Formats: sequence, C-alpha cells, structure tokens
Amino acid sequence: MLSNQIIDWYLQYKRDLPWRNTSDPYKIWISEIMLQQTRVATATDYFNRFLNQFPTVSDLAMADEREVLKLWQGLGYYSRARNLHATAKIIHTDYNGVFPNTYKDILKLKGIGTYTAAAISSFAFNLPYAALDGNVFRVLSRVYSIDKPIDTGEGKKFFQELATETMGNARPEIYNQAIIEFGALQCTPRTPNCVTCPIQANCLAFGNGQVDQLPLKSKQIKTKNRYFYYLFLSCENRFIIEKREGKDIWKNMYQYPLIESDKAISTKKLLQTSKWKELFENKELVIQSICENVVHKLSHQNLHTTIIHINTDIDQLKEIKPYQIIDSSEIENYPFPKPIENHINATFENIP
Ligand code: SF4
Repeated sequence: MLSNQIIDWYLQYKRDLPWRNTSDPYKIWISEIMLQQTRVATATDYFNRFLNQFPTVSDLAMADEREVLKLWQGLGYYSRARNLHATAKIIHTDYNGVFPNTYKDILKLKGIGTYTAAAISSFAFNLPYAALDGNVFRVLSRVYSIDKPIDTGEGKKFFQELATETMGNARPEIYNQAIIEFGALQCTPRTPNCVTCPIQANCLAFGNGQVDQLPLKSKQIKTKNRYFYYLFLSCENRFIIEKREGKDIWKNMYQYPLIESDKAISTKKLLQTSKWKELFENKELVIQSICENVVHKLSHQNLHTTIIHINTDIDQLKEIKPYQIIDSSEIENYPFPKPIENHINATFENIP
C-alpha cells in the first residue's frame, strides 16, 4: 500500500526536527505557523527561541504583543505572530489554557486553516484528518497522474478526498508527517529523486513521463492548438490507414495518413512539407475535395482537422508505404478516433 511505503521511507529518512517527537499541540501549532513561508533551517532557530521564551500557551497569552513581535523579528509575515498571540489569549481564557482537541474547534481558531487544523489534529491527537499542503498535492498529483488544477475549489475538494483515501487506515500522526516529508525531500518540485524513489513503480507520472508537468495550476493550463491534415487516399471503397503510436492521444487507434502542424498551413504549403514529399515523392495527384478545419475539442487541446481527399488508382495506393490498405467492408475491425469515424460514416453511407 502506498501509505505503508511512504511511512517505511519516512522512518528511514526523516529529519530530526525539534517539533517532531512531541505530541504537544501548542508546540506543533507554533511550528506549523512558523513553517508557513519559512524554510525549515530558519524556522528551527526561531522555534527554539520562541518556545524557550513562551513554553506554554498561557505564557504566550500573557506576554506583551511587542515582546512577541520582537521574537518574530526577521521572520516576516507578522500577522502570523499577531494571530498566534490573539489565539493564545482565546485558548487561555475560553479553554482554560488547554489546547482544543477536536478538528472542529481547532479550525475555529484565528489564523488556522484546514491544513493546519488537520496537521495539529493528527500530529497531536492522532485524529484521521489528511493534511494537504503543497508537498502532499505534489506527491498525490504525480503518483496518480492527476491533471486537475490544485488551486481551484473543485481541485482542492478532489485532492482532499484522494488524500483521505490514500491515508486509509494508516496512523494519521505518522502518515501525514511521512507524506509531507516525502514531498519535501524525495518528490521535490524541480528535481524529484525518481531514481531512488521507493514508489517509482507505482508512480503514474513517472511512467508517463509527466513528472515535470505536475502538479497543475489553473493558470498554467493552456489550451493547445494542433492542426491535423489527414490524407484520405482512396480508390473506390479502398483507402489507406496507419496506426497511431507513441505517447499521444488515441494511441493504437487508426487514422488516415497524417501531417501535423502547430499552425494552420495552406494546401500549397502542405504540398511542400517533407512528409508529403516522402509519401508521394513526385507522383501526380489530384486533390478531389478538402473538408476544412473542423475543430475537435479535447481537454486542453483543440484539434483543427482538415481532411484532404485524393482519389487515386489501386497501383498508386499500393505504392504508398508503409500504410495499410483496407476496404470499407473491414472498417468494423479497426478503432478510429472521432474525426476519422465521422468522415468514414459520411463517406461510406451504407456501412453495416
Ligand atoms: S517516482 Fe519521482 S515523481 Fe514519482 S513519487 Fe517518486 S519522486 Fe515523485
């Protein structure tokens, strides 16, 4: 199971950080707030000094705000310190200085969002809430090859459910720390260490060569325009097809010979492409009709398809290699993508 593999990795490689090996929710809370926008090495030093000065939530509550801000000096994002202080006062007065122990109550506290509430609930109280930070988004989106953006409401909801499912029955306290650490050290944003990764065999992004494309953010998703020029070469009911190969859409389906371009090109230019020359050398061919620019929309891709019909004789058809000649009576034996299927249906009206 993925959760067990990540936990095994964690037990072997985790860093010895001062906020680990404690189940004190106050210390965990301080560390989580400090770690927002701050590197671990910097946060460690501040954490030790802060806890030295304010060892309990009540010590923090009773401190002067200026003292708190002074200790925070240099860390930046000072609203974090002010929120910590205000929240410590609430815990001191409303909860008698005892940190709340339910996810719902923790989430109500000022400056604590869903991630921090899940982290405190699980690290301190072993409650089954999957913590979802940037590291976890990255690991999950790569392992499961998820092309949903992580920064939309829909994406967040989806990943939250996936994170909970992935945690399964693992101990929340260890599992959450493990997957966060795994993202921070192994499955890093720019240079993930896939070579030594213990879950490489189960990582779909690794298998598909998509590691550097995930996770996705909504602003990054651009619709790509591709221009497909299909060559429908026929002789009565016979025509030629090829099988799509490689890691692209419609892998292993069949199509008419294709010339692809990243921009629209005129027929005159098409005749000058190397693929056209390679296919037909200097044969004299007559273009019978052109069915132009039908847009086929896929997720993140607009396919502008043009089908060029060339009527020829069977000898010439046989010479066009390495394609396969089929008869219209055989089309049931071949899977075709939608644009080709539509064209075949329109061309051979009496297909069974
Ligand atoms: S194989 Fe690479 S991308 Fe996949 S989980 Fe491991 S480190 Fe991350």
